[in-house]
Amino acid sequence: MIAEDLQSGVERLGDMIARAKIIVPFTGAGISTECGIPDFRSPGGIWTRNRPIEFGEFVASQSARDESWRRRFAMQEVFAAAKPGRGHRALASLHRAGKIPAVITQNIDNLHQASGFAPDRVIELHGNTTYARCIGCGQVYQLDWVKRRFDRDGAAPNCSACDEPVKTATISFGQAMPEDEMQRATELSRACDLFIAIGSSLVVWPAAGFPMMAKEAGARLAIINREPTEQDNIADLVIRHDIGETLGPFVGN
Ligand code: NAD
Repeated sequence: MIAEDLQSGVERLGDMIARAKIIVPFTGAGISTECGIPDFRSPGGIWTRNRPIEFGEFVASQSARDESWRRRFAMQEVFAAAKPGRGHRALASLHRAGKIPAVITQNIDNLHQASGFAPDRVIELHGNTTYARCIGCGQVYQLDWVKRRFDRDGAAPNCSACDEPVKTATISFGQAMPEDEMQRATELSRACDLFIAIGSSLVVWPAAGFPMMAKEAGARLAIINREPTEQDNIADLVIRHDIGETLGPFVGN
């Protein structure tokens, strides 16, 4: 059912939240657009400017790695300046109130952690872009280290321990999904009684399978997105409005 207007949507969502015992939010890039981080698919989004670099290309080609890091450095000011928005803060309030055990996210911006979720309560399906990892041995690197090497050598660096490429700790297209995260997201989707998909276009699989999985396991499903999504037809509530406006009333202490 599509909410007639913002106010009735917020009221219905409030009733669903009040009645639910275990709420699992699933977030996409839309929750962070008000924090200044563009999404991928909206007009002006990242993909309207840059074709994504697939994992195979990154592994095979130094110039693809250089380009990938140049793009990441170009975004650094935006990521570094971003603060949690009303959506993040509302979810953190419900987490503190004991309603939300953990959040499942497609985002890579670390803003759920910044809003008050402990790192082990943020299930990052697509990793995290605020630090880097060696794709061979998994050694963690800070972005400052990568930047210094890049500036010194004029090329993306390899791991000091095993000489394999260093990449942002994100999951690229063509890269395997993280097993533990997929497992935990599956368990949470099946265990909740309210699943809220927030600011995801619900087209990137397998991540987009979780709302459907929750619904099939008996949860109620709410979708918040200013545009229609492919799963609106199975949702109990669709709020086609801005996320900050919709979730702002749920920001608590
Ligand atoms: P997407 O760009 O495909 O979709 C974002 C969705 O949010 C769109 O459907 C758009 O209509 C909606 N939206 C944007 N701003 C909104 C607002 N203020 N209110 C309501 N709706 C809003 O992003 P996605 O579905 O999350 O998937 C693409 C992948 O992009 C993700 O897997 C993620 O890894 C990556 N990504 C992450 C970030 C981030 O970490 N902030 C940013 C861009 C892309």
